[in-house]
Amino acid sequence: MTYEIEEKINLIAKWIKDHDRVVIFTGAGVSTESGIPDFRSPGGIWERFDPNEFLFDKFLASEKARRNYWQLHTEIYYTILKAKPNPAHLACVALDRMGKLDCVITQNIDNLHQNAGLPREKVIELHGNALKVTCLSCKKEYDRKDIQQRVEGGESDLRCDDCKGLLKPATIAFGQPMPFKEMHEAETRSAAAEVFLAIGSSLVVYPAAYMPIYAKQGGAKLAIINLTPTPYDHQADVVVQEKAGVAMDMIFESMKKRV
Ligand code: NAD
Repeated sequence: MTYEIEEKINLIAKWIKDHDRVVIFTGAGVSTESGIPDFRSPGGIWERFDPNEFLFDKFLASEKARRNYWQLHTEIYYTILKAKPNPAHLACVALDRMGKLDCVITQNIDNLHQNAGLPREKVIELHGNALKVTCLSCKKEYDRKDIQQRVEGGESDLRCDDCKGLLKPATIAFGQPMPFKEMHEAETRSAAAEVFLAIGSSLVVYPAAYMPIYAKQGGAKLAIINLTPTPYDHQADVVVQEKAGVAMDMIFESMKKRV
């Protein structure tokens, strides 16, 4: 560990020790160490699929687009099913058990925060959850496993059993309205945070990327932990360019030394 990174890690550890309302905001980069590729790094999903093919309007408008959407999401689903939480997810659980964690606000759809042991009510999912499916008309919720069987049985245009509305993975496509309750909760918690850690997010997907700004405006200490630069690095109190799991382990080591 270089002196510079050690100083930054020690500072974040001190903030956490001194405060009780830590909000953690996570993006796809928090799950790459679990084997789920992010969207924008080399080899990420948008190098192999064209995002313009997966817009919400197209999903609504054409059966072909829906078939492609289910195909992409079948790949994502099986990748997610194989993945296990990594040290960054476990660090969030450890912070919660120490009474420090207000909540995790995640852009991820992979359920790994919950799989790591974080109580459901501590996780605010801004972009939904790939292990669920919803009817776009009556909002009935389905278990993804059951719907996946129908996809693999050859059904290409999946419809709700009750109202015949369109079924879609319970995730937010580009152009799809954000979930109102989760957005409101995330904005409120961000603005009230004492310490805000943005981990593994490129901070270019809106409106999620506003959360660190709400936190900063509310007076929080802001740390960005990401492998590559983000548009908000200049607003952060500390920027750590390191793997999420490695950085969170270092923060915990530093906290232990400060007991
Ligand atoms: P992104 O792909 O735009 O950015 C990920 C960022 O994480 C990149 O800047 C990258 O440099 C960084 N990164 C990669 N591995 C890292 C690591 N080990 N440690 C620290 N940083 C690392 O992802 P985003 O900002 O979350 O936004 C993209 C959208 O993609 C979100 O809406 C999210 O819902 C969705 N997504 C989710 C998953 C998932 O659920 N695991 C996976 C892919 C995409």
